[in-house]
Amino acid sequence: MVTGNQNSVQDILSKISGLNEAESLRLLSSLFFGTTVFSTSFSSEDQVITDMLSQHQLPVEIFTLDTGRLFPETYSTWNNTLEKYHNRIIAYYPDAVALQNFVVEKGPNSFYESVENRKACCHIRKVEPLQRAIKRKQLWITGIRAEHSQGRHDMPKIELDAANSILKYHPLLHWTTDDVKKYIQENNVPYNPLHDKGFISIGCAPCTRAIRPGEDFRAGRWWWEDSSKKECGLHIHASTNEEALQQLK
Ligand code: SF4
Repeated sequence: MVTGNQNSVQDILSKISGLNEAESLRLLSSLFFGTTVFSTSFSSEDQVITDMLSQHQLPVEIFTLDTGRLFPETYSTWNNTLEKYHNRIIAYYPDAVALQNFVVEKGPNSFYESVENRKACCHIRKVEPLQRAIKRKQLWITGIRAEHSQGRHDMPKIELDAANSILKYHPLLHWTTDDVKKYIQENNVPYNPLHDKGFISIGCAPCTRAIRPGEDFRAGRWWWEDSSKKECGLHIHASTNEEALQQLK
C-alpha cells in the first residue's frame, strides 16, 4: 500500500492526470485505503460525489457534521440518500458540554451579534467535530467548486491542509452549476429541494438565505457580515507544505 508519506502533491496530481472523477476517486481511495474520508453537507455537489462513491462501491468513509441547526430539507435529503444508496453516513455532533456552556452564556442566536460569536458557534458546531472526523486520516474528499468563491479559482484539485495535516481532493473543483445539475438529473440523484428555491451554498438554517439573481454565490451565507470574514474555518485554503505532509500518519 502506498501511503501519503511517499507521495508529494505533484506526484498525486500526475497520477490522476487524464482520469475522470470516478476513476480518480477509485485510484486515490486505493492509494489511501482505509484513511480516506468524504465530508458531505448534502449539497448537490456532495450528492454527486456520494453517488460516484456508492455506484463504484469505493472504500471511503462518508461523514457529515450535524450542527443541530440544519434545515428540515437537509435532514430529508440525508434520509433520501440513505434510502437510495443503503450506505453508511457517520454523523459527528458538537461536544455537548461546550455547546451547552456556549448557549447558556451567549443565547441560541448570538451569531447575529458579532463575528466573534459567530466564529465561536462555528467552531463548536463544525470545526471541532470536523477535527475529530478527519483525525488520523490521510485524504479528505470535498465537494468544493471554484465557482462558489473567488479565492478558489486558482486552487489545485489536490492540496495540503497543513493546519489539519491532511491532503484534500476536490474532484468537482472545475465543474459548473450546469454540470452538477446534469449529473443529478441523469443519475436520478436525490438533492436538497432548497436548491430549487435560490439556495446555493446551504449550511445552517439561521445563517443561510436564498440569493437573488446576480448576487455572488456566497451572498446567502452570513449575509449580515462583511464579506471578507465569511469563512467558517472548515476549509482554510492550504499551501503545499512538504513538512506538514511528512506528519501524515
Ligand atoms: Fe452556528 Fe451559524 Fe456557524 Fe451554524 S453556520 S455553526 S448556526 S454560526
